Amino acid sequence: MLFLFMLWLFQTVFLTDMYKLVRTMEMEKAINLVETSIDDEDLDIIILGLEQHMEILVRPTSQYRQPPEQVLLNPKFTQPEAITRTKMFTKEDGTVLSMTFYAVITPVNATVSTLQLQMFMIVCIMILFAVVLAMIIASHIAKPIERLNQSAKVLATGQYDVQFQGRGFLEIKELSDTLNTAAEELSKVETLRRELLANVSHDLRTPLALIYSYAEMMHDFPREITSEQTQTIMNEAQRLTKLVGDVLDLASLESGTMELCKGTYNLTQSLRSSVERTGELVKHDGFTISMEADEDAYVRADEIKITQAFYNLLLNAIHYSNEEKHITIRQSVQDGYVTIAVIDQGAGILEDYLPYIWDRYYKVGKQRRHVTGTGLGLSIVRKILELHDGRYGVVTALGLGSTFWFSLEQADM
Ligand code: ADP
Repeated sequence: MLFLFMLWLFQTVFLTDMYKLVRTMEMEKAINLVETSIDDEDLDIIILGLEQHMEILVRPTSQYRQPPEQVLLNPKFTQPEAITRTKMFTKEDGTVLSMTFYAVITPVNATVSTLQLQMFMIVCIMILFAVVLAMIIASHIAKPIERLNQSAKVLATGQYDVQFQGRGFLEIKELSDTLNTAAEELSKVETLRRELLANVSHDLRTPLALIYSYAEMMHDFPREITSEQTQTIMNEAQRLTKLVGDVLDLASLESGTMELCKGTYNLTQSLRSSVERTGELVKHDGFTISMEADEDAYVRADEIKITQAFYNLLLNAIHYSNEEKHITIRQSVQDGYVTIAVIDQGAGILEDYLPYIWDRYYKVGKQRRHVTGTGLGLSIVRKILELHDGRYGVVTALGLGSTFWFSLEQADM
């Protein structure tokens, strides 16, 4: 509108004034030209050239002045609007010439009406164009955004199954996809929260109930306390401590609040001492753990976290070993990656369960829940390795054992 208004202002309202100004300037230029070439031989030709644009009446000074003939004779311009300037020029030989410059500006009025009509047509076309454009914008941008907004409001009420349908421009489709992913993630978090509450409360309740009943028994029959009873209480308390520790670890790993304390260290050396310490602890139960490593490998990682992941794998190997109580830790270095494999000869895992064992709270054979661990061990391993951009996996055969492995990029020393 502003653009059209300016166009209208200059093309119609100020047009006459501007045209006059231009004509006056032209006339000034013509006068200056005549003044400088008054003694030239070809003055006539110069005047002829100038007459292309304006009328010039040249007379000796004595002659009676009158407006140019052809203008007066033209019937169409009975009272032509014009600008006139009369000027005397003195030649070198003393002759004085009077010249009247006469520029008609009347046709401007006709031009103004033409322009006004054109302006009116342009305004109509522009308004039509603006309306069509507004309608297109509304249907392609405003409406889809409005729909997304409605869905977002539904999402805010906690209905995570809401679908965002963004149509129209690519950016709106992308926004819609992002919102759908966000809704999906929120829904996952919600499921996880429920799962966590259910699992943790179940896992806490079982040992607590056991501890309570044993303590009650010991309270009622203080003379009959046996070492099995106290051992059960100790075991259950240990289980509780481990569960709480695992839940807290996983929570801080997943929330992203945990800062990794990375440094370059000797992985082989670090794991070897862990193996030795664990070997000492479990040798009374008949376990032997051996470590095979050809060379010392260095990695850039958080030593405490990597050791924790390794411990989880090692303890699982011990936990799920059957009669064959030998566990092998094998280190191999290839293509700049160090791979650590924890090999047991235990029960192995059924292939159907494999995709789920890395999930939180997943325990193969859930009925054995009170016997086995917390179901968080492998998810902690997974999270730690993901934070280190490491790879991990398992190769297993039912009845033959499992090989859990992880690999990290080798660091230069
Ligand atoms: P848990 O605390 O129950 O051991 P994990 O997350 O460490 O939880 O392991 C998940 C499941 O994977 C376990 O319940 C177990 O059935 C299976 N699993 C893990 N390690 C082994 C292993 N070395 N041999 C056989 N099964 C294993």
